[in-house]
Amino acid sequence: MIHDGRTRGEPGTPDRLFAGAPLRLGLLFLSLLAGPVAGRAAEPLRVVVISPELKVTMREGEEVTLAVRPLPGEAVDAFIKRLTEDPRTKKEIEDQNEGFRLFRPDVFVYIPYRLLSDNYRRIAMEALFPADRGDGQGWAHVVAAPTGHPESLWRIAEWFTGDGANYREIRSAGKIASLETEVGQVVRIPSRLLLPGFRLQAQTEPEPPPLQFGKDESGRFAVYRLKRGEALYSAVVVRFTGRVHAEDVNAKAAEIARRNGIADVRQIPAGFAVKIPIDDLSPEFRPADDPVRIADEKSRLEAAQFVNRIKAANLAGVTFVLDAGHGGRDTGALVAGMEEAGAVYDLACRVDALLAQHTKARVLLTVRGKRPCGKADGDSAGGDWRTARVLTTPPYGLEDAATGVHLRWYLANSILRSAIAAGGSAQRTVFLSLHADSLHPAVRGAMVYIPGEKFLTGSFGKSGAVYASRREVREEPRVSFSRRDRIEAEGLSRDFAEKIVAAFRAAELPLHPFQPIRRNVIRGGREWVPAVLRYNRIPARVLVEVGNLNNSEDRKLLSARSFRDRVARALVSALIDFYGGRKEDTVTASRKVKGGG
Ligand SMILES: [Zn+2]
Repeated sequence: MIHDGRTRGEPGTPDRLFAGAPLRLGLLFLSLLAGPVAGRAAEPLRVVVISPELKVTMREGEEVTLAVRPLPGEAVDAFIKRLTEDPRTKKEIEDQNEGFRLFRPDVFVYIPYRLLSDNYRRIAMEALFPADRGDGQGWAHVVAAPTGHPESLWRIAEWFTGDGANYREIRSAGKIASLETEVGQVVRIPSRLLLPGFRLQAQTEPEPPPLQFGKDESGRFAVYRLKRGEALYSAVVVRFTGRVHAEDVNAKAAEIARRNGIADVRQIPAGFAVKIPIDDLSPEFRPADDPVRIADEKSRLEAAQFVNRIKAANLAGVTFVLDAGHGGRDTGALVAGMEEAGAVYDLACRVDALLAQHTKARVLLTVRGKRPCGKADGDSAGGDWRTARVLTTPPYGLEDAATGVHLRWYLANSILRSAIAAGGSAQRTVFLSLHADSLHPAVRGAMVYIPGEKFLTGSFGKSGAVYASRREVREEPRVSFSRRDRIEAEGLSRDFAEKIVAAFRAAELPLHPFQPIRRNVIRGGREWVPAVLRYNRIPARVLVEVGNLNNSEDRKLLSARSFRDRVARALVSALIDFYGGRKEDTVTASRKVKGGG
């Protein structure tokens, strides 16, 4: 259960479904026409604008170049490091850009593909070839001929493996008859040949389900053919529309059933072609030319520029702000006698204990009971969550759930300020909020929420005695974020979220099968970022819904101590992985620690 930060009756924020998309896209195209350009006289044949500061160009001969403007306040060396991760590339980049010495935020710097870091190579390729996909076996490149003629196997090998000569292996592995490629042809690059940036991607993205698109008197739609045993709720609504809350799933299922002339949703034959209105589809399932999908992709690529580059052996110097959702009088979701607050408080205690035992991370809890994290009592949730208070100065007794949520982000921001003042950095600080959801019973597994950039605009602060009496609020009563802050937060948070998803996969813990990482909540026709992330200044910040209490299997698992122990270990592994820890540093289940403690 998560909070949007509003108290009952408070007016909604203007973050209606996809409201910002068309305007945003318009700005992107305008920025392509405007703005001075350094050096380069020859006009590129193909330009993909990702953001006002970032575009990918491809010229005759499939020469790929990234055009980048420095971020406000970004120094030359930091810029080079960010784009290429190699300070030695500075000379060559300077030589290739007449205007580079000016180094102004309004002048584009051109960087050839081969000098780019793995991360930026991936961004460039995904921008030029949006139909490409990675999976467990490798990377599927769909020949798209961005400059008018199909890209050669040599170039494909060069882009994705770093060496054009690998075209032979790609050719033999894929039994590709001709050296000439054709538009639409799928060229598979085996995982072992891929550059690390593409390999990482390959492990985290499942194969997209097949959708066909069409149009009838009711408008444009996608068609999905139900497989044997699949239900409209889970196979269509939850998967393709991003709805997960029972009332939203049921309403959308009823709507789709009506549009398809289905009288009884429980009796749809296998193979039935379900028409789903385009406007109901999550952006990634829309047709490739859909403006909402294009804007969403670009926004994702823009944020992908920011990934964690800090390595911290044994998490030394890392401040980990660990937030157990709810507590005190706020039980959170309450299903069949099981309280969300109890389960996640126990989980937080386990994570805290594991980090103390295996790492040098400094862990700061946002809430704590009167007695410290205790031993778990049998299989029930351990810890003194009913007396939990938010650890502001003075502490807050959680009399009101919404106030409790706001005080948590004020506390997190205060912890970050102190960490920086003590010689730490924002990049060495991580925020993780633990929750368990109560969604449609068909929904299963963990989901990770990250702060979607477009939801972080404006400035925000709370007033009233309960806030004014807290030191953390007085330190900084209002917060707002620069565009750079917002994009960086989304990028770093996704990077951490991907580590969590990978750790859950490795530990075979249930994950939401579709989009386990989400930039926002969709509920009751509104889109929003949970308040505890929305106003939080810690760049890498996530909210993990460890399971769905309305799903009986998830509920049974979450009530078991052994399961919560495995989840805690996966979360600790993810944090170690985020800071470049090696596999052998990972806390495995074999290294037993006392439960609950
Ligand atoms: Zn919750």
